[in-house]
Amino acid sequence: MYTRILSRRDLIGRARAHYLGRNHTVRWSALVALSVVVCTSAVLLLPSTTAKTRVAIRVPCEQPAACAFAESLAVDVWSEERAPGLPLDVVVMNDALHRLDAAGVAWQMLVPDIDAVAKAEWDRLHDPAVARPADWFGEYRDFGAISAHLRELAELAPDRASLQAIGGSVEGRPLWALRIRGHAANPKRMLIDGTQHAREWIAAMVTTCVADRLVRGYDRDPAIRAFVDRTDLWVVPVVNPDGYQHSWAGNRYWRKNRRNRIGVDLNRNFSVAWGGAGSSRFERSETYRGEYAFSEPESSALRDLAKREHIALHVDFHAYGQLVLYPWNYTSTPTKDRDRFRAVGDRIASAMFAAHETRYALINGIELYAAAGTMTDWMYGEADAMSFTIELRPKGGSGFVLPPEQIRPTCDEGLAAVLALRSAQPD
Ligand SMILES: [Zn+2]
Repeated sequence: MYTRILSRRDLIGRARAHYLGRNHTVRWSALVALSVVVCTSAVLLLPSTTAKTRVAIRVPCEQPAACAFAESLAVDVWSEERAPGLPLDVVVMNDALHRLDAAGVAWQMLVPDIDAVAKAEWDRLHDPAVARPADWFGEYRDFGAISAHLRELAELAPDRASLQAIGGSVEGRPLWALRIRGHAANPKRMLIDGTQHAREWIAAMVTTCVADRLVRGYDRDPAIRAFVDRTDLWVVPVVNPDGYQHSWAGNRYWRKNRRNRIGVDLNRNFSVAWGGAGSSRFERSETYRGEYAFSEPESSALRDLAKREHIALHVDFHAYGQLVLYPWNYTSTPTKDRDRFRAVGDRIASAMFAAHETRYALINGIELYAAAGTMTDWMYGEADAMSFTIELRPKGGSGFVLPPEQIRPTCDEGLAAVLALRSAQPD
């Protein structure tokens, strides 16, 4: 069941996460403030006009101190990429806003009540009175429905598509991969995956939708036929099925997998620069990297697949921010292939723009603050693949809860990116 009011345990967890998980100086005042909320349970029962709400805001980071202060008040950080030119999206309790004002920190409202937005989405998905769209991609789908859809695609074109589990999750769910390939002699080997982070639902839908387009469009679209014939593509829409299902079960903003019910950030669990900056050793942190590199079955399964299949091209789909990124994530030192990454990345961003004139910014890896142990760094550094991270829609807006009408247009952009990456490679 969905719980609108934060439980005492949630708040204790958040206070501890705040205390343990951040890479900045611990702010006891914030911890004390949260503790007051926890101890004053009556606060939780007040009418909504005075109740605590979780607010998502965007803080421009022209002054780093402003963003550091906003982050010190945050109960969650939504920004995946951190760079001097990028704003910081954080979730704070509503009563922290006046502290930002008092400190002269400018902020912009993204979502006034993130739990109300999640509740509205929950109601839409679960209310029997709400009509279900006939279009499968007209609404978000849970892990069971996505698995069934992949199976259907495999049955639809058994000569070109097959479904197999490449491993299992912590809780024993299969990690489904749909393999799509034509009959050319030396196809390029490619992997696309989504939802390392559970709350990024659009990434699961877009990867499933790209697979759907490639399977169904083969006979009528020459560009798709050319792609399928010349490519051996693996599609893993839900890398983190336990976390994904947990986010469907009411904890909408869950990010990590479900190791010990606390979770590991899978995108900090890969071995290139594992343990470095931008990842946390504290298990309550949203960027907890795990006990050791590849401690998690989900990241290990991707590693094994990439090695076994000699994957040469890779896209890791995330949300949100409308960004195209390339290695390195862990260091500001450019890769030896930076010019090539930039040229191909530019083609990807242009192809995505051509679909609906939605702008995706190509971010130069060296502009970013470090994030160690990511999948794209491993795919490039260890598996030798041309590897991109794509942050899908929205740019800011409602954050992770994207209206379902945007699934199809975002899929157009995802497909354009996949085709562009492939067409930038010689056969
Ligand atoms: Zn992500």
